[in-house]
Amino acid sequence: MSHLCINSHLCINDLTIEVIKKNIKNLHLGVYPPNGRVRIASPLAMDDDRIRLFVISKMAWIRKHQQQFAQQERETQREYIDGESHYFFGQRYLLRIVEQNQKPSVTIHNKKYIIMTIRPQTSPGHREAIMRRRYRDELKNRITPRITHRSEKMNVNLTSRHIKRMKTKRWTCNPTAWRIRLNEELAKKPEQCLEYVIVHELAHLIEPSHNHNFWNIMGTYLPQWKKRKDLLKTWKLSI
Ligand SMILES: [Zn+2]
Repeated sequence: MSHLCINSHLCINDLTIEVIKKNIKNLHLGVYPPNGRVRIASPLAMDDDRIRLFVISKMAWIRKHQQQFAQQERETQREYIDGESHYFFGQRYLLRIVEQNQKPSVTIHNKKYIIMTIRPQTSPGHREAIMRRRYRDELKNRITPRITHRSEKMNVNLTSRHIKRMKTKRWTCNPTAWRIRLNEELAKKPEQCLEYVIVHELAHLIEPSHNHNFWNIMGTYLPQWKKRKDLLKTWKLSI
């Protein structure tokens, strides 16, 4: 019995699917934690077009499962205690808690620590709120000059109504809303992710739909958009 096994990849839109051809009778599709990796096992003789069609027919199912994993990831609770890992623009830091009777603050120290100064007996919920405020402030600092710069280059007229803080934790795009939606989670990801989100949303001021023209505009103003998009999607917080 042969154990021949051929690994390859299949790309459908923004999705990369691992294809494993082996000595089996039917297709087996799986979505795996933690970040929703997609894998399909196929019989050796099956041609790529058939595999592709099968995956396309299961796209809603794949997305549903990926969203579930994303949800689980979101629900990983932080307690905001000494020694925990926290992320700030793609870098991992160790949290240090300093208790002092003064106005709370969050600072970065030696590129290694996030020092959170809080009053004694600050609840975990309050600690989280302090951290989120810091994320939001930093995001604003980094995003404002970028938006100004990019909107000038792209010749779009951006008003404050376009910028709105997002309520959900994950960045999603609603092409008809014409708003830059930001949330604190973006402050955890590498800064290149910000660039993608900004150019993407500004591009919608020129082209509301996710059509060919839209991706052309993206290509003009952010030639590396595909890489950035992948980074945004796959960059995962791990402890
Ligand atoms: Zn969009």
